[in-house]
Amino acid sequence: MPTKNTKLRIGILAIHGDVAEHAAILRKLKFEPVEVRTAQDFENLDGLILPGGESTTIGKLMEIYGLKNELIRFATTPRKNPITGNYQLPTIFGTCAGLILLAKFGLLDAKIERNAYGRQLDSFETQLKIPTVSSKEISVAFIRAPKILSVGKSVEVLAKFEGVPIFVREKNIFAASFHPETLGETKIHEFIFTRKITA
Ligand code: GLN
Repeated sequence: MPTKNTKLRIGILAIHGDVAEHAAILRKLKFEPVEVRTAQDFENLDGLILPGGESTTIGKLMEIYGLKNELIRFATTPRKNPITGNYQLPTIFGTCAGLILLAKFGLLDAKIERNAYGRQLDSFETQLKIPTVSSKEISVAFIRAPKILSVGKSVEVLAKFEGVPIFVREKNIFAASFHPETLGETKIHEFIFTRKITA
């Protein structure tokens, strides 16, 4: 029986990227962050974050450690939500390099161009208005960000920047070309994990 204090466990792939920043946001939202480094670490998770970083390196290491296949299995297998008791696909959120990997591994039907917003020096912070997420402005950073060139029919575009999709969803898979965690922004995580995991 879940107790009042049951917390959903959200994994953070901890190969490379902003692991501590994502963990701090999850704690603020009363989730339990879990660092994921091995296939066994997926066992008791209710959701997962794939942080940014260098997608080629992260992807290679995931293959070497057997994490790519484990991620695909995890993303496509319903599991019991400890709070609602319902079986559902676990919610997954990829930011930046995480978005690139979700598309590369066939979990998100989207065409992506890496580094399409420019190099490190062209990285920028901005405030987004995403009414479906919040009535307040959302602070995010684009860091050598990938561009979503096109998406498949089953993908919902949740936000655009300068006419280009930057935040998308395909069933249980959410992905953003920007980083919410570098500026400590909690609204994106709250929207994704509170609404979708506990729904
Ligand atoms: N430029 C990186 C890549 O292509 C992604 C950058 C990021 O995750 N901030 O892998």
